[in-house]
Amino acid sequence: MAAHDPVEQKYVYDFAEGNKDLKDLLGGKGANLAEMTNLGLPVPPGFTITTEACKAYLTTGREPDGLAGQIEAHLESLEREMGRRLGDPDDPLLVSVRSGAKFSMPGMMETVLNVGLNDRSVIGLSAQAGQNDRFAWDSYRRLIQMFGKTVCEVPGEEFEHALDEIKRAKGTHDDLDLDADDLRGLVDAYKKIFAKHTGREFPQEPREQLDLAIRAVFDSWNAERAILYRRQERIPADLGTAVNVVAMVFGNLGPDSGTGVAFTRDPGSGAQGIYGDYLANAQGEDVVAGIRNTVPLQELEQLDKTSYDQLLDIMARLEEHYKDLCDIEFTIERGKLWMLQTRVGKRTAAAAFVIAGQLVDEGLIDLDEALHRVNGAQLAQLMFPRFQLDHEFEAVAKGIGASPGAASGKVVFTSARAVELAAEGESVILVRRETNPDDLNGMIAAKGILTSRGGKTSHAAVVARGMGKTCVSGADELDVNVPAKRFTVGDHVVNEGDVVSIDGTTGKVYLGEVPVMPSEVVQYFEGELDPENTDDALVRSVHRIMTHADAARRLRVRTNADTGADAARARRFGAEGIGLCRTEHMFLGDRRELVERLILASGEREREDALAALLPLQRADFIEIFREMDGLPVTVRLIDPPLHEFLPPLEQLAVNVAVAQERGEDVAKEEALLAAVRRMHEENPMLGLRGVRLGLVIPGLFAMQVRAIAEAAVAVVRDGGKACPEIMVPLVGAVQELETVRAEAERIIAEVVGDSGVEVLIGTMIEVPRAALTAGQIAEAAEFFSFGTNDLTQMGWGFSRDDVEGAFFWRYLELGIFGISPFESIDTDGVGRLVRIAAEEGRAARPGLKLGVCGEHGGDPDSVHFFHEVGLDYVSCSPFRVPVARLEAGRASITTTGSDSR
Ligand code: ADP
Ligand code: MG
Ligand code: MG
Repeated sequence: MAAHDPVEQKYVYDFAEGNKDLKDLLGGKGANLAEMTNLGLPVPPGFTITTEACKAYLTTGREPDGLAGQIEAHLESLEREMGRRLGDPDDPLLVSVRSGAKFSMPGMMETVLNVGLNDRSVIGLSAQAGQNDRFAWDSYRRLIQMFGKTVCEVPGEEFEHALDEIKRAKGTHDDLDLDADDLRGLVDAYKKIFAKHTGREFPQEPREQLDLAIRAVFDSWNAERAILYRRQERIPADLGTAVNVVAMVFGNLGPDSGTGVAFTRDPGSGAQGIYGDYLANAQGEDVVAGIRNTVPLQELEQLDKTSYDQLLDIMARLEEHYKDLCDIEFTIERGKLWMLQTRVGKRTAAAAFVIAGQLVDEGLIDLDEALHRVNGAQLAQLMFPRFQLDHEFEAVAKGIGASPGAASGKVVFTSARAVELAAEGESVILVRRETNPDDLNGMIAAKGILTSRGGKTSHAAVVARGMGKTCVSGADELDVNVPAKRFTVGDHVVNEGDVVSIDGTTGKVYLGEVPVMPSEVVQYFEGELDPENTDDALVRSVHRIMTHADAARRLRVRTNADTGADAARARRFGAEGIGLCRTEHMFLGDRRELVERLILASGEREREDALAALLPLQRADFIEIFREMDGLPVTVRLIDPPLHEFLPPLEQLAVNVAVAQERGEDVAKEEALLAAVRRMHEENPMLGLRGVRLGLVIPGLFAMQVRAIAEAAVAVVRDGGKACPEIMVPLVGAVQELETVRAEAERIIAEVVGDSGVEVLIGTMIEVPRAALTAGQIAEAAEFFSFGTNDLTQMGWGFSRDDVEGAFFWRYLELGIFGISPFESIDTDGVGRLVRIAAEEGRAARPGLKLGVCGEHGGDPDSVHFFHEVGLDYVSCSPFRVPVARLEAGRASITTTGSDSR
């Protein structure tokens, strides 16, 4: 809009003026109310104040010019339409004021119902409702309560307290037993509470009520909880919220009225058929607040068949229109149905897959859209074992599903006890109010972690996810008493040693041991369930969507595997090669002794002997892996960790030497080892003598590995098999390092390969920032790059991975410095920029340079999208993440017009 545009900016939209695609401007709730209005569904009339108005208010601290007038105009037309005026003493129009951002957000202001009621209009409302005093005073007390709490920050407990008091005096638990006099008394009590906390009387002027409520919605955008939530969910901070002003309809007018919520399919399993709750003679939040027992929606058929049939009809229309599962809120006022909200509904991971499959069958969406509607996080969830809950198990508490999985074990309250019991072979669940870095050992020892405080970014949650350990956090019904070694929940007391079960996906806590069953999705990937021949709707749908993802994706998916067994499993999961075969384990076990000889070698001869002894062992390992991969590419990383990691720890050696000396035994060898360990000690081993540096410093070490790889490949090929080795040099920072290693490797390969037809590529990891920044030079000596994003993140941020996650990441997450650990999801701005630079400059220097990524980011959904976009050839991840990467690579490749899935 031009600066001199004489037309004032439009801040208010009648429901008839909006539609579902205007979520940015009207928020989710407003856009969908408009959409339903335009579909001709029975929506009470109203209007939406735009997010633009909110943003203007938040920047300037006052309502933008023109807003008040536009509200006035829309209110007048609403009054005309309803035939009532706001707060009219004889026949009042009442409205609700409802927040509604683009993404639904806990922590924002909730709704204020019954705006427009005051000491006079409450009488008029009663008269209009056929002298229904009870209804009128019930509505008034709700207004003061909601307005007080959400607009004026009066502590909600005080109102609840007063309500409980009256019920107790009356000897009832049911608010329906309160009569008009009781509620009139309650209004007086509420007004006193309001005055006490705000220093003013409850506002009697309806328009003032309305304006204050609108302003409170605006302000709630910047409430602390809302800000925190946005950071965690990576919702932009500058979207603002819309405000909906809606004519009230009343579900609390008597037994022929009521209110309910419903889903168009079961959001738990995805099964077809409606699903919901209904509560007669109730208003708004009563349904979800659990103050009275709701009835299943199906029972509405008996209570009010006309409304029920109409509702079913509307739900079918909504699904057809949104082409997805919808959830709805509705109210029935004396037999007349009103729709108050709809949106594309949240669902479980299983339901997401099942519904996407069903909608394809029903012809509502195509396979691209189905693929778009599911995601890798959901698939990962479905690959964990689950509790088998068909028996009598009932959850005693529900916290936050902080790290998925299903775990049962004996309750312990301290880290030390967890370690003790675990050492005895017990499964333990570590229960704490919240965890801190001192609990780390206990968390490692435990099967699962349960806390009564903290959210998804608490210490417990972050560390557990990093360890892949089941965790339920913030189960606040639990009263944890660490000194007494027990917790209470409801009527139950759980002592140390009692068994509990926790579900890290749903957040549910069970007493006793719940049996665990394997994931049917894993069974399918393992080839144990035939997707064409099962009645498991989930497996059928997963198969179909995975097949489509594989066809759609451009990124190849490889796996990180060090052994033939890992490689075999990964192939069943769909891996198209090995992107990272670490060779460290080939120096372990009974080969340690050879490594010690290598390290202690006093001369060239001894060292060569040790290496010569290692060669056939490593060759055999490679033969096994090449056979398993049958011609798929296998990237082998030459030895990476500092050699002293293969020696016993200093303290242990020192003790051994001392004990042996005491006994008068010959300790020459131990002493030599001890001296070597002392000599090789490093202050910062991660930045020390490792990777390519080892190859340059220890003669013959890399040469032995290169020879083992080449000989293995030749052996497999001579046997009639196929082998496609790629030798990867770790920790390169300068092209000269790589050139030196390469020259020697090429000589050996040429000698070994001869005329066997085996081809061996030589490339490097890009994991030192300098390598990324000089990728153009490095590409001259590399046939491929594999981004080692773990080290690249470690060195890019200067974070010691082994220390930081437990030590302070929870705080960084809390402060929103990052929304997710950069070790979990690639930091696209910083570390990702290094990847982008290296990819571009590497390819510029050597067209056709093969680019991949190894490290856990290769299996992280968001990171996979980033790697797709940067144009890498493949990602590589642990076997269990392979299906997730396949799915996300497929999703990254398709473009759909579909809805925003957040
Ligand atoms: P939330 O975003 O928390 O669901 P809503 O704005 O949907 O909040 O409102 C909360 C409750 O109040 C809902 O159950 C809704 O049905 C009810 N409600 C909102 N506006 C009206 C209205 N105009 N008439 C009757 N009930 C309403
Ligand atoms: Mg709602
Ligand atoms: Mg590394």
